Amino acid sequence: MIPTPEVNGRVPPVVMLPARGSKIPLVFDSPHSGSHYPESFKTLVSLDRMRRAEDAFVDELFAAAPDHGAPLIAATFPRLFVDPNRAPEDFEPSEVQGAFAVPLQPSKKAAVGKGIVWTRLHGLASLYEAPLTATEVMRRIDAYWRPYHVAVASALDEAFDEFGRVYHVNCHSMRARGNPMDEDGESDRPDFVISDGDGGTSDPHFTKFVSDHLRDEGFTAPCNDPYKGADLVRRYSDPARGRHSIQIEINRKLYMNEERVEKAATFPAIKDVLTDLIRTIADYVRDDAG
Ligand SMILES: [Zn+2]
Repeated sequence: MIPTPEVNGRVPPVVMLPARGSKIPLVFDSPHSGSHYPESFKTLVSLDRMRRAEDAFVDELFAAAPDHGAPLIAATFPRLFVDPNRAPEDFEPSEVQGAFAVPLQPSKKAAVGKGIVWTRLHGLASLYEAPLTATEVMRRIDAYWRPYHVAVASALDEAFDEFGRVYHVNCHSMRARGNPMDEDGESDRPDFVISDGDGGTSDPHFTKFVSDHLRDEGFTAPCNDPYKGADLVRRYSDPARGRHSIQIEINRKLYMNEERVEKAATFPAIKDVLTDLIRTIADYVRDDAG
């Protein structure tokens, strides 16, 4: 994880590296790379196993963003504790005890225990010894999900207000192979996947520009297959008004050992590839703002 200074002896839910030098309307965020497991978070599975759900080290891969005029926002908490890339209503009510304050809209993922708070890992009836309560789910949303979204929304609004347009890159990593419950089933995944909800969250020209750059570097980088993008790109985008959000997924085999959740020897080389991508995107955004 990128360095996370404690505030009043506590790790804050979100860390932001502000842009250095001349600012441009570009914002990066990494919602799933958090690896600070709160003391109160007790589950039936080992830390090693939970850590495999993280998009480990993704914030570090994009740590050069501020040098190119763009802030980087990263969650410090793990995504299975509460997932910033899900809507707060995305939860299956039968997974908890008690009632929610708002009507729920569970997605297919929530039905298998991967809604805004994960309640199951593969093959487990529950992550928790005692059933989770609706109060606890709502507490996590207020204490972790909300500050993360405030940080992302504020950075995007600030850039949009100043420049009249903003580009948002939502950064993730994916397992090298899917499992039977994934959209793509048990198949090998490409090096990168760039998503814009089939053109719904960004000018497709920008999406294609990012994909083409990675292809020119020798990688496979399809658009919107198998991923389309989730809550964070949908929630803050409005391409017709100049608000463009794309999701980028990096295949973990490129930079880490998935079983051990450790950086591979290739990590510095892939970080260089992504630093070059940041520079290329910053040039695109500068030209567009020109
Ligand atoms: Zn992710």
